[in-house]
Formats: sequence, structure tokens, C-alpha cells
Amino acid sequence: MAMKSLKLLAVAALFAAAGAHAQTYPTKPISMVVPFAAGGPTDTVARTIAASMQKSLGQTVIVENVGGAGGTLGAERVARANPDGYTVLLHHIGMSTAPALYRNLRFKPMEDFIPIGLVADVPMTMIARGNFPATNFKEFLAYVKANKDKLSYANAGLGAASHLCGLLFMSRIETDFTTVPYKGTAPAMNDLLGGQVDFMCDQTTNTTGQIKGGKVKAYAVTSAARVPSLPNLPTMQEEGLPGFEVVVWHGVYAPKGTPKAVQDKLVAALQEALKDPVVKQRFNDLGTDPVPQARATPDALANQLKSEIAKWGPVIQKAGQYAD
Ligand code: ASP
Repeated sequence: MAMKSLKLLAVAALFAAAGAHAQTYPTKPISMVVPFAAGGPTDTVARTIAASMQKSLGQTVIVENVGGAGGTLGAERVARANPDGYTVLLHHIGMSTAPALYRNLRFKPMEDFIPIGLVADVPMTMIARGNFPATNFKEFLAYVKANKDKLSYANAGLGAASHLCGLLFMSRIETDFTTVPYKGTAPAMNDLLGGQVDFMCDQTTNTTGQIKGGKVKAYAVTSAARVPSLPNLPTMQEEGLPGFEVVVWHGVYAPKGTPKAVQDKLVAALQEALKDPVVKQRFNDLGTDPVPQARATPDALANQLKSEIAKWGPVIQKAGQYAD
């Protein structure tokens, strides 16, 4: 009997300690894992919101790049991290395609994470090396079709947005081309600039500067409407590919088991960051917007993840794409 109540006391003390810890959180820097290479599109989104979240959290938010396997290595790292609020994940649409693409995925997106909120929907651009012999989308398309065996398409691995966009493009134009995977589109962009690869479909958060600087050729955007910061670029739909739309949604997650009080602080910090005029301006310059506050919530991210897993599963199965 005495033994039993001692045990109960110990359990109660543990809970009290966790509660106290959550009250004072955060007391040290937080790591925000980006599952792609530094300097790329997801990294840019993460660094923009991390810099703002740390203002309300009162602690540094350090972006940590864990690239490879289309974003699954970084996501796995966070799934296994201590659920104390000091490791969070910023991931994109790839979180929803991974279960269909990876047969031996070592985490479950819906079960191993706690959603914090959506961040931004980022359009993509179809771009090519600076000396690509096409000045508009029609010429680009004709050249790709005529030279498919000679051309290489860069992507950030199976499940990356650049992979999904390329897959959709291949099926819509009924043309296969060689793909070259990287740990992120930052290194892919370096090779595109150097002319080692020919073309890629990548997010505006990585391509806007290169397009405006005239370093790459750009042919179209993948959103349903034109992107205000790149007003001269037509949409894929305008260019004769009806229904071609790829927009890359991003969300923040914590590992399952993160205390509720800590989750609440992360949600509040994310919502504050998305209201920050500095974040808004930076996102606008890069062709995107922060999501409205109603979508910067755990429920909105959970619903998005669930519906996107349901949407992409059959598409990927039909395409016969997977990795072991
Ligand atoms: N998000 C990846 C990156 O940051 C690129 C991609 O998904 O295509 O490199």
C-alpha cells in the first residue's frame, strides 16, 4: 500500500515537472529541421519564419538542414526527436507523398507528428539553363519533345516538389526525360547555372532571384493565376495545359508527445510570424503569401495532410513510382 502511494506520488511529481517545464518553455534555442539542402526554397521559407518566430518565443530558432531521400531523412529525424519542443520540422507537400513513394518509410506522417500550422503555398516555375535554345513556352515544349533523349531534368529526389512537377509535366506532354536527383534544389540550381543539367521545375522561393537576374530562362508558372512578382510569366494553363496546377504547401510539425502547453506556444509564435510585415514582404517578393490565420492552425494542417495523402496515393501508384 505504502509502496503504491509512493509510486503514485512519483508519477504526479513527473507530471508536475513536465507542466512546469512547459510553462517556462523555451529556455534554450529551438532547432527547426528543414529536410532539404541549405539555400533552397524550403530553407528560405524556414529561415524567413524562424527569424520572426524567435521574436515572440524569446529564443533563437536555428534552421538545421537534413537533406536526402526527398525529405524523408529530415522528417524521420524529427519523428524520433525528444518531444520537448526543441526540435520541430518545417516540411512541404512531400510529407503527403512519402507514404505512397517510400515502401520502407520509417515514420507515419499522420501518427508520429503533431501539426502546428500551415505556413505558405508556393508556386513553381519551369526554368532552364541560361543558354537553353527557346525563348518562350511553345519553343521550350517543342525543343523538349524533340530532344528528350539528350536533356536532363534536375529534381530534389523522389517526393520533392520538383519531382512531382516533373512527373506531372512528363505525363501531360507524354514525353519521358532523364531526371537527376539532388539533396535539394539549391545544389540543383548550381548545376543548372553551370549548364550541367538542362531544366527544372522549382519553387519561386528559389527561382525568383535567378529569373529576375537573367541567370536562367523561365517559361511558365504552375499556379492557376499569374504570380504578381513575375507578371510576365504565363501560367501552364494559359500555355495549353489545362488543369496543370502545382502549388507547394508548407507546414510546421512537432514530434508526437510534445506537451500541449509547448504546442500552444509554437502555434502562437507561428501565427505571430505570419502576421509580421517583414515576413509578408519577403514572401511577396518571392512569389508567395503567408497563409491566412485560419489556416495557420493545427486542425487546418491536419486536414490538409490527410486530404493530400488521399489525393496523391492513387496518382503515385498509377505512375508506378516508388523507392525501397
Ligand atoms: N523543397 C526542396 C528544396 O528545398 C525542393 C523541392 O521540393 O523540389 O530543395
